[in-house]
Amino acid sequence: MKVMKFGGTSVGTPERMKNVSQLITESGEQTFVVLSAMSGTTNSLVEISDYLYKKNPEGANEVINNLEKKYMQHVEELFSTDEYKQKTCEFLQSEFKFLRSFTKDLFTSFEEKSIVAQGEIISTNMVVNYLQECGVKAILLNALDFMRTDKNAEPDPQYIKEKLQAIMNDNEGYQIYITQGFICRNAYGEIDNLQRGGSDYTASLIGAALPAEEIQIWTDIDGMHNNDPRIVDKTEAVRQLNFEEAAELAYFGAKILHPTCVQPAKYAGIPVRLKNTMDPQAEGTIIDNVIVRGKIKAVAAKDNITAIKIKSSRMLLATGFLRKVFEIFESYQTPIDMIATSEVGVSMSIDKDDHLNDIVNELKKYGTVTVDTNMCIVCVVGDLDWSNLGFETLATDAMKNIPVRMISYGGSNYNISFLIKESDKKRALQNLSDVLFNK
Ligand code: ADP
Ligand code: ASP
Ligand code: MG
Repeated sequence: MKVMKFGGTSVGTPERMKNVSQLITESGEQTFVVLSAMSGTTNSLVEISDYLYKKNPEGANEVINNLEKKYMQHVEELFSTDEYKQKTCEFLQSEFKFLRSFTKDLFTSFEEKSIVAQGEIISTNMVVNYLQECGVKAILLNALDFMRTDKNAEPDPQYIKEKLQAIMNDNEGYQIYITQGFICRNAYGEIDNLQRGGSDYTASLIGAALPAEEIQIWTDIDGMHNNDPRIVDKTEAVRQLNFEEAAELAYFGAKILHPTCVQPAKYAGIPVRLKNTMDPQAEGTIIDNVIVRGKIKAVAAKDNITAIKIKSSRMLLATGFLRKVFEIFESYQTPIDMIATSEVGVSMSIDKDDHLNDIVNELKKYGTVTVDTNMCIVCVVGDLDWSNLGFETLATDAMKNIPVRMISYGGSNYNISFLIKESDKKRALQNLSDVLFNK
């Protein structure tokens, strides 16, 4: 069985929902489908929660009313029979009643996560109703019945596997199984989610749990491009990536894939295919175990990075210095991305700065601390094993007009990363594309 995941733009209009329905049924094979909310809906739901949090029910109601109007219109366009129009309208009415219930009594604690979860609950209901109206044997499985995170807020693969397999056994014989991306329950059984963009993660976790023969991520572009198409001119789709390369690119900012999504597929050895809903014939990108030797594949960039340097003349002979430094970051649950060391100091980058002041205060016990904010990591990915002569020179040459704060190379065989100012990002990415790909 294949898993096919469709993102927000892929189900963004009734027309697109019809296209998706065509894409998932045309092979006639049993397929497991993961859907995001219609594009814009999760943002609106976040806005509603925000108004409620700020105790502004009028603001929340206005967003709810606009959303409701839009969805009622969608129903008219999506369905052709009165039976399914009515069935879906009734469902939507109960959804909007649920959202409004939080605006009536502001003193009850509202559950933000439950509000944000409704986007996927609505989109999956609409599509399953549409498929059933078309006579397809389709069933909606509620992700809240099997997607679960543990006490560390990490998905619990064993629980997911057992629950999902049991649910599949109870529901044999359907052509299409549909579920919600993004949403889950936490270790306490409360509604939660896998972070913004997390539907990719849902697809990969389900692919590993089934297990599926392939996990397809359908979006609005023909696969992973060799640079960020939102920033750089003349980017091209990369046909193949290995899991490591894809994980690096996703982690370092290639928005097409959620950073966490590669890992479950990689461990289960299931290929991930990136496809374009707007152009299904386009080849897309396959992510698998194959390593193509001697090739630089792509570049990605991650913003909002903070660099911290600690200099200590006592470091030279002090064993345990780095341990003390790392323990400070660990105690504030702040992961370090890049590291560079010298005889007298160490530079690190972080992308989570909620505890920056505390970390800096503690580091000051051990040396002189400097902080640079608004930085960006630019990451070049491919077969960058050190036996490939000249690759790092090529990458650094492309950066020759950009002030570089840190470089990291040799941590894996797959990347070389540069820490630069955010304001230099566009220029750096364009230079890298020109030198590495557009010769
Ligand atoms: P979905 O809603 O389907 O999950 P996303 O918006 O999360 O889609 O991801 C697709 C978008 O990722 C593309 O429209 C593109 O602008 C952006 N993107 C950023 N970097 C890359 C890249 N290297 N290759 C392809 N797309 C990228
Ligand atoms: N709907 C969620 C979001 O907008 C999850 C997703 O689309 O992957 O973040
Ligand atoms: Mg996405």
